[in-house]
Amino acid sequence: MREIIVAGCGPAGMLAAIAAAREGAKVTILEAKEKPGRKLLMTGNGRCNLTNLDPKLPRSYYGTDPETVRKLASGIFEQFSVSDTLAFFEELGLLTMDKNGYVYPYTGQASSVLELLLQELRRLKVKLKFSEKILSATWRDGWWDVNTASWTYRCDYLILACGSRAISSTGSDGSGYTLAKQIGHSIVPVLPALTALTVKGNSFAACFGVRCHAKISLCVMAGNGKENASWETLAQDTGELQWTDNGISGIVVFQVSRFASRALYNGNKVRVILDFLPEIPSVELRSVLGKLTERYSEETAGQAFSGLLPAKLMSAVLEQMRMKSSMKAGNITEKQLSSLAYVIKNLVLPIHGTRDFEQCQVCTGGVALEEVEAETLNSKICPGLSMAGEILDIDGPCGGYNLQWAWSSGYVAGTHAARKSADPSKENEIRFRESTE
Ligand SMILES: Cc1cc2nc3c(=O)[nH]c(=O)nc-3n(C[C@H](O)[C@H](O)[C@H](O)COP(=O)(O)OP(=O)(O)OC[C@H]3O[C@@H](n4cnc5c(N)ncnc54)[C@H](O)[C@@H]3O)c2cc1C
Repeated sequence: MREIIVAGCGPAGMLAAIAAAREGAKVTILEAKEKPGRKLLMTGNGRCNLTNLDPKLPRSYYGTDPETVRKLASGIFEQFSVSDTLAFFEELGLLTMDKNGYVYPYTGQASSVLELLLQELRRLKVKLKFSEKILSATWRDGWWDVNTASWTYRCDYLILACGSRAISSTGSDGSGYTLAKQIGHSIVPVLPALTALTVKGNSFAACFGVRCHAKISLCVMAGNGKENASWETLAQDTGELQWTDNGISGIVVFQVSRFASRALYNGNKVRVILDFLPEIPSVELRSVLGKLTERYSEETAGQAFSGLLPAKLMSAVLEQMRMKSSMKAGNITEKQLSSLAYVIKNLVLPIHGTRDFEQCQVCTGGVALEEVEAETLNSKICPGLSMAGEILDIDGPCGGYNLQWAWSSGYVAGTHAARKSADPSKENEIRFRESTE
């Protein structure tokens, strides 16, 4: 029987270990932290949004090259789909609940998901070693020496499922990228994603804590500094936005943040355009504002428009236009009303940055997808290696997509690793690139 080591006891690592053990391999998981699944327990605010029933799910992932991502994700989800995932968890004994396509454990507790995965690992006699952070791994042309601070483990096959750099206290501290790089893989620069954005200037500081409905458009200056430079909209989303002390947050912001991260990293200017009343066309809004100022002509602007936006936000929007919410509604000019209607639907905020790795849910970037086989997730660089989960250069939106990637990629990597390591004829089919290269 061939021996497989899985680096990391997160969702991808656990699924890889279960799949490999089900194929008959002898599997050990080496986990850096003293306990498994630290990040899994945080998911969905502790409730674990474990997948999404979106029929477009396999086409919803991002990475450096959209075509490579699309091909790879489709291939992986064909082998272990959302239905396979639900069947897998059902077999383990997990009841799930569908909330508008967002799937949660019926218990509402991420710990139920973790507990059942651990039970399955124990049933399959997978060895779990905690507080065993892998510091280096050396391929000896047929087997691995995997080094932790306390031991050198030997195995035939290694699966890296070390996660990203998002929230290092969970154990995913970026050391997986270092290992992959030592082995010879290239790493697409890793940046925070699914995170809040910070805004240049402080004109909306008074809105701290306010929540509002908005459509957000993330725009990037294409051809920075050049004569024909123009703003290009890279992503849009609609939902609840939260104002922070230095910018904007909330799921709607998280969904576009990966584009901001990458564009800022590339030195591009970034801005967002907020439409606070996306369901109301501009012309209609202009007419509503006119009617309100007539009806409440003796009241303040803040009072007249109090049914449109949260008070603090309306006041900040008016201030943007050098108007005061205390001004008499009847004194607002036609021109000001037209401008107000425009700004409510097109507020531009220049983006300064994103929150850091300790305040993001996932990372964009990671091990270059071109360096793994699309069907198997086996490394094209080293014959005894495969990778799964967030360590790869693929990230999904909020809503269960990232865990689904971890489940699917983990299961596929584990299955193929076990099959490949059981077939010695395939051992050296891929030329090993020396890590010193
Ligand atoms: C607050 C928060 C909420 C989230 N909510 C959701 C949600 O509801 N739905 C969703 O789909 N996604 C959610 N995500 C994203 C999701 O949790 C991750 O995409 C997913 O956990 C990635 O799985 P993974 O196994 O690849 O990595 P991880 O879960 O990060 O696991 C990697 C494991 O590897 C270990 N490790 C790292 N380096 C080493 C090493 N050198 N040696 C040994 N072990 C190592 C780590 O300790 C860790 O246990 C959320 C993320 C956060 C931070």
